[in-house]
Amino acid sequence: MGRKFSAALVMTAGLGLAGAGAQVPDTVDGHVLAAQKAAGLDFSGTLNVLCVQPSDGADPTLAMMRAVASGKPRPIPARDTWYAEPAQVFDNVYFVGTKEHSSWAIKTSAGIILIDTMFNYAAEAEIVDGLKKLGLNPADIKYVIISHGHGDHDEGARMLQDKYGARVIMDAADWDAIEKGRDKPGGKPKRDIEAKDGQQLTLGDQTITIIKTPGHTLGTLSYLFPVKDHGKTMTVAYSGGMGFNFPRSKARFDTYIASTEKIAAAAKAAGATIVFSNHSMYDQAWIRSRWVRKPSDPSPFIIGADGVARYFTVLAECAKAAKIRTKS
Ligand SMILES: [Zn+2]
Repeated sequence: MGRKFSAALVMTAGLGLAGAGAQVPDTVDGHVLAAQKAAGLDFSGTLNVLCVQPSDGADPTLAMMRAVASGKPRPIPARDTWYAEPAQVFDNVYFVGTKEHSSWAIKTSAGIILIDTMFNYAAEAEIVDGLKKLGLNPADIKYVIISHGHGDHDEGARMLQDKYGARVIMDAADWDAIEKGRDKPGGKPKRDIEAKDGQQLTLGDQTITIIKTPGHTLGTLSYLFPVKDHGKTMTVAYSGGMGFNFPRSKARFDTYIASTEKIAAAAKAAGATIVFSNHSMYDQAWIRSRWVRKPSDPSPFIIGADGVARYFTVLAECAKAAKIRTKS
């Protein structure tokens, strides 16, 4: 953005628009306010998890960390609390996630690329049965890309390897963490392809650019890829890890912030107008997948370059606030 537009930017920032380039005071409140302005109503879920703290000052993601670290078996929630109907969201893209987690199927001329596999309890019902409901064949899944090696994104991968011979791509750091970690419901995925930064994964007529964005885990992956809406090509920026449920340190937050700025810049350069994440409550994927619209209406996932920029601003500003809150 040119310098001459900065005055207009200051004026629009008050309306909850981008605010990029505006001076943000380096304080907790300064960063939270910047995140609030960027989030608007589009990313209230992301803002809530990353920035908003309960009145007692407790950190909601720390409770999640402790629960995982305790190693206690997780109860499987009742199906009607998580089950979501599968939905076609672009000409070549399908949401096969739950109300809480996202899994995306990209149909190509040579099979399906699947992004994330969610908890084991949901994988069969959402991915296998969901693809069948949509008239697709789960046996056509050729590649599974895992955004990071946490159970809510990778537990279903082993089933897809064993049942359909799908190849699984993950960052080496998260393959390592899985190998060292506890067994997973559904089994650990068998170590397969290690992602490279900037790698272009091509299947048939579709190419996905993989961008390493360490922070949430050391091997978190994000992506850029084209989709078609009523025949028109546009670009998705996929955000692979958001929560701050990692060992807290200022250095780790610096890694997270740098990765967020890296994918935000790549998304901008690619002209991305759509954001996907792996938590359907963060990008409102489940809600948007049910949006009422006429068949000729554009996909409700199209939020424009400004919307994409605001999404990454929420992540970066909340991380800056959390970094200040972090002692070490
Ligand atoms: Zn995670």
